[in-house]
Amino acid sequence: MVGNTVMDEVLYEGKSKIIFKGPDDDSYILRYKDTATAFNGEKKEELGGKGKLNAEISNIIYAYLSEKGVETHLLKVIDDVTALIKKAEIVMVEVIVRNVAAGSFSKKYGVPEGTELKNTTTEFSLKSDELGDPMINDSQITALGIATREELDYMTKQALKINELMCELFAKAGIRLVDFKLEFGRCGGKLILCDEISPDSCRFWDTETNEKLDKDRFRRDLGNVLGGYRDVLERLKNA
Ligand code: UDP
Repeated sequence: MVGNTVMDEVLYEGKSKIIFKGPDDDSYILRYKDTATAFNGEKKEELGGKGKLNAEISNIIYAYLSEKGVETHLLKVIDDVTALIKKAEIVMVEVIVRNVAAGSFSKKYGVPEGTELKNTTTEFSLKSDELGDPMINDSQITALGIATREELDYMTKQALKINELMCELFAKAGIRLVDFKLEFGRCGGKLILCDEISPDSCRFWDTETNEKLDKDRFRRDLGNVLGGYRDVLERLKNA
């Protein structure tokens, strides 16, 4: 129970979040966890306070995007790790946006990390822990009936718009938005932005020093993981 909200029915438990049945048929309750995972769950640790940091960071970004006209799942912040969200049917692909080469892009294409890209790239990966979220192209997605052509075009357009808005916000915070992952859900005949946007799902580098302030600190054992997350939060608050 949080406030007067009953949370007694878990609908889904993921690596870093739990979804509970909502107070009505149109909503769910989202609870952030402290668990950190990487490499498809192979590396796993409890980081006390991560859920709270990610919730607050994500809530700030969602409020900003919503103010700029982006439709999102967030209805209300309930407490520091819990939010009321719209019920949506998640589209089973992740949308990845990149401004700078890093991570799997650098590895796959042999491009040094930190290389500025001549244009922003978008790609899709199939949401499947079992298969390790493989990259999937548009015609494969439509062939498998995962999403329609129109939905893919809309998600790509929205992802690029969100990228522009987030780049502006993070530039003010002295942070380089290297890349990030988005998810969308079907709700009331529309696609809305779903899931968290946090240092778990984005690469954030200090504009001046390129210091990593995101989950790569966990993935690569760089230490002081939550120090990076705290830094992102403080800078966002002052942006
Ligand atoms: N990402 C994510 N969830 C995933 C895969 C990627 O949030 O299941 C984010 C990741 O944090 C990074 C961006 O998407 O900000 C691009 O990730 P990449 O493809 O480089 O994969 P990685 O190097 O993390 O394996």
